[in-house]
Amino acid sequence: MRTDTAGDMYRRRLLKSLASLPLAALPLAALLPRGLRAANGAAGRRRVGPADPDWPTAEAWRALNQAVGGNLLEVPPLLGACAAGTDSAGCREVLANLRNPFYLGDQPSGTQVSGWLDAWTPAASVYAVKARDTADVVAAVNFAREHRLRLAVKGGGHSYQGTSNARDSLLVWTRAMNRVTLHEAFVPQGCAGRMQPVPAVSSGAGAMWIDLYDAVTTRAGRYVQGGGCTSVGVAGLVQSGGFGSFSKGFGTAAAGLLEAEVVTADARALTVNACSHPELFWALKGGGGGSWGVVTRLTLRTLELPEFFGAAWGTIRARTDSAFRKLLARFFDFYASDLLNPHWGEQVTVGSDNSLKLSMVCQGLDPAQARAVWQPLFDWIAASPGEFTVTDELGAGAKPARRWWDSAGNRSMIPDLRPGAPSYHVWWNGDQDQVGAYLHAYDSLWLPAALLHGQQRQGLLAALFAASRHKSIGLHFNKGLAGAPAATIAATLATATNPEVTRAFALAIIADGGPPAYPGMPGASVDAAAARADARSIDAASAALRRLVRQAGSYVSESNFFNATWQRAFWGEHYARLRAVKASYDPQGLFIGHHGVGSEDWSADGFTRL
Ligand SMILES: Cc1cc2nc3c(=O)[nH]c(=O)nc-3n(C[C@H](O)[C@H](O)[C@H](O)COP(=O)(O)OP(=O)(O)OC[C@H]3O[C@@H](n4cnc5c(N)ncnc54)[C@H](O)[C@@H]3O)c2cc1C
Repeated sequence: MRTDTAGDMYRRRLLKSLASLPLAALPLAALLPRGLRAANGAAGRRRVGPADPDWPTAEAWRALNQAVGGNLLEVPPLLGACAAGTDSAGCREVLANLRNPFYLGDQPSGTQVSGWLDAWTPAASVYAVKARDTADVVAAVNFAREHRLRLAVKGGGHSYQGTSNARDSLLVWTRAMNRVTLHEAFVPQGCAGRMQPVPAVSSGAGAMWIDLYDAVTTRAGRYVQGGGCTSVGVAGLVQSGGFGSFSKGFGTAAAGLLEAEVVTADARALTVNACSHPELFWALKGGGGGSWGVVTRLTLRTLELPEFFGAAWGTIRARTDSAFRKLLARFFDFYASDLLNPHWGEQVTVGSDNSLKLSMVCQGLDPAQARAVWQPLFDWIAASPGEFTVTDELGAGAKPARRWWDSAGNRSMIPDLRPGAPSYHVWWNGDQDQVGAYLHAYDSLWLPAALLHGQQRQGLLAALFAASRHKSIGLHFNKGLAGAPAATIAATLATATNPEVTRAFALAIIADGGPPAYPGMPGASVDAAAARADARSIDAASAALRRLVRQAGSYVSESNFFNATWQRAFWGEHYARLRAVKASYDPQGLFIGHHGVGSEDWSADGFTRL
């Protein structure tokens, strides 16, 4: 794995600055003996920020730096190098790389989205521990707890809701803990005799899914269930539940978790699995990232790789509203009869311009089989040129599954071309627009499979048509597990994810945003009025679907920042049980993030216990 040169530079700078720190630079209170400072100290309900008298002294930070082997970093803002102008090499470097998800992930203050209108704005932590091993994490957790600091935990940095980003915090950054190891026969610790050995892969918490796909699929010819976006962090996605393109066949990433190592708030490094700390194990499987402790390592089941992965693509535009209704009706007939099965996932977009965009994938069908499935729909469209035009060529096919994530000659993927980057660090063309995006609004809801049947189908079609008058809707079929094999459903029901996922045929996602607009980014501007109008359109489209599915569940990591009933939406009937796990493993609320379990006890900035 490559090392982070920018991070090393910050570390060197920090060591220099700590060594030369003039006493005058310290807050007055930091110079007082601890007993005297206590009088100035914040009450137990309030965490300590850099402006508070109880903020750790320079000596304390120096001791932490020593304890973590020199891996304590000062965290400059992402665009910090541009503060004095755009001429410096540092500024040019960051501007050149803002659309590279791997570069963003390599920065301690990097976030994969550049903010969310009226919701959150990226802000650098004061310091980060760039953890190399569990001992570094233990030292950081102890330090944060003892000094009552706001603690943030970041892996891949792909939180849409900014839950790995907190102003005035100490960050535990797992990026460098990225080793991947394959096992032929893994038995979780303490489970011998209770569980059969299974093939598995262990991953450091900071690895990204492409690191696992390369090791497990490209090199070893097996399958691991992870995320669709290659640069998402393994630990964050598993704790989200986690869907990949082929989840309709293989379920959520969380359902494949066999074991994790977790540093809890009391700084114990626990090995957590079905036999040891089973409640914490269950909560880690979809209970949301950043709420339970710092995950340092995960072990996931690997599966036999299907021979083929494939896709279907293209865009059809209806010439009139009534033709569009007819197209939707025909598509959902086809979906219910031919696609609602373990083979087909990913998405269609129901467009506000009366278009239907196909971006579907499949597993387990050879090229001829994949084409045969779609031909009747393609023929039906071709037979009515007066009603439909094909604006992007329609097609379907498949290729050897082992080459799906292979970067060699893969024109669907964009490589990280920075010197020293591994050749397999690639991202999908289709994900490019999201890199650094500034979000206007985002919402998601699970659509029950019952809507596909009988009279309810008409309601679904009407609601989709009505919603699409406001905004295009993505239907992510791989994020609703109705139609999946029974074993896949059973494994997902053993996780903390809202059980609604197993009854839904799709997750509807309605979202939009603009180009990167990071704080301090030269030339970036957000037209707030236009962005707000866009947000209202998204809300209106979502409301049209929510009238059909009242109290719909929503996927924790791809959801509305402003969802007022998030506990029920993300976890349904599981929320009380998750609260109990939180109370037993993190009673003081060291691990808090926006709309995470237990966050209702804290102010929005995570500094004040309510
Ligand atoms: C561009 C993009 C594409 C996405 N694609 C998909 C997709 O295909 N499928 C899908 O299911 N989801 C997807 N998501 C959502 C994504 O899975 C979640 O946001 C996930 O939590 C990101 O994990 P991360 O480590 O990359 O992010 P981070 O922002 O680093 O972390 C997310 C959360 O997990 C916590 N966390 C991270 N590491 C640890 C750790 N080691 N221990 C404890 N807590 C930790 C953080 O504190 C934070 O609360 C996508 C998001 C984006 C922005």
